[in-house]
Amino acid sequence: MLKNILFSVTKNKCPKCHQGNIFVTNNVFNLRNFDKMHEKCSNCDLKFEKEPGFFYGAMFVSYALMAAWFVTTWCINILFLNLSTYTYLAFVLLTFVFLATITFRTSRIIWINFFTKFEGKLNKK
Ligand SMILES: [Zn+2]
Repeated sequence: MLKNILFSVTKNKCPKCHQGNIFVTNNVFNLRNFDKMHEKCSNCDLKFEKEPGFFYGAMFVSYALMAAWFVTTWCINILFLNLSTYTYLAFVLLTFVFLATITFRTSRIIWINFFTKFEGKLNKK
C-alpha cells in the first residue's frame, strides 16, 4: 500500500489505476499551472475532487509534512550545525516558501490516496 502511495505521489498518477495524471503539469515550479488539476482521470474516469471542499483535508496532510520538515531540520541543526536560532528560523521560513508548491501537490495526492484504493493497471474503458 505504501509503495502504491509513493508511486502515485512521486509520479503524479491516479491512485486507482496509476495511468492518468492528477495535475496538469509535472513541473512543480511552473507557478502559473502547478495547482491545476484534471477533473477526472483520463484513463479510469476517477473523479479527483470527490465533493466540494474535499481538498480542505489536504491542509492537515500539508501541516504534518511541514511539521515533519521542521522537526527534522531542527534535529539536524541541534546535532550537527549549531546555527543560531534566528539563522535557523530564517532558513526554515525560506524553505517553507520554496517547498510550498511541492507540499501543496504532495498533500493533495496523499489525501486522494487515503480515499482511493489501487486496483491495478486498468486498461482504458
Ligand atoms: Zn485512473
